[in-house]
Amino acid sequence: MERRIRQLLASLNVPWKYPEHAGRLSAILNLLELEPVPGLRFESGKPATREQLGRVHTSSYLSHIFDLRGKNAWLDVDTTAVSSGSIEAAEVAAGTAIAAVEAVLDGRAESAFALVRPPGHHAEPVRARGFCLFNNVAVAAAHAREALGCRRVMIVDWDAHHGNGTQDIFWADPDVLFCDIHRASPFYPGTGKLEEIGAGLGEGTTVNVPMPAGAGDQAYIKAFKEILVPAADWFQPELILVSAGFDPHPFDLALNVSYEGFAAMTGILQDLARRHCQGRLVLVLEGGYHLVSLARGVRVVLSVLAGGAIPEPGITGIAEVEAAAAFHRQAFQSD
Ligand SMILES: [Zn+2]
Repeated sequence: MERRIRQLLASLNVPWKYPEHAGRLSAILNLLELEPVPGLRFESGKPATREQLGRVHTSSYLSHIFDLRGKNAWLDVDTTAVSSGSIEAAEVAAGTAIAAVEAVLDGRAESAFALVRPPGHHAEPVRARGFCLFNNVAVAAAHAREALGCRRVMIVDWDAHHGNGTQDIFWADPDVLFCDIHRASPFYPGTGKLEEIGAGLGEGTTVNVPMPAGAGDQAYIKAFKEILVPAADWFQPELILVSAGFDPHPFDLALNVSYEGFAAMTGILQDLARRHCQGRLVLVLEGGYHLVSLARGVRVVLSVLAGGAIPEPGITGIAEVEAAAAFHRQAFQSD
């Protein structure tokens, strides 16, 4: 797999040889500078501490990762590599997810979006996977519970890939409801089957919704309304976290969620958070590798969070056909 990915990347004529790179965040910030979102406020994060990371990762794993500081290395056959700045970036990613949770629980903001990289949802307690070193959303959830007094946390993962790491970490935990909508196995990482529902005290607090390739807005919104909303109403979360990946957008070739679809999902979660937990909603960036759909997707979500209107998702092509029909109408009239 590693060799295949390297060959694939080598054949692409792009400046970045690794799809998860710093240009992802610059693309988002550039768009937000060009097209500011009214009502949006920026705050910066700081590195997570070893104690904060140690709530979800083992001590031996953290020692191994910290030993790589300043080095280049391949960590895992499934494409996870580190370069000289990766460990610091991963510490700041997890710490920024924590800062976003603190901003919301302090009441400084109703909602927050941690724009971070590398992503986190594939990182397991003892293993880096799929570009992820530390599980940012899990570190944030653990901090909310252990340091900020939140008893029940709901995590929604709408990234195209299953959040295997987050599922692992909270598998037997009844106080974290983990709901993941993703493209079904054998799509990477191959986990997230319907029957994976947690175990022990946590049986029933893991909810997986596998989607076929090409599933789009209608399927996602149906899953939100018919599965996630009743699950949240039953669970009564005190905070909602989102593993927000933008690779369900068609530009990343796995699924078919449009910008309006991301906006609609955000609106549903915003309503849920307002109903159950004073609007406390924190998004943490996961995947999304096409720079245009990544930046546009983040912007549309931020505009909903900041109080903007929620555009109605249509069915792809219908508006264009209607416009074309209007354009051609005169041509076929006999009189
Ligand atoms: Zn992904």
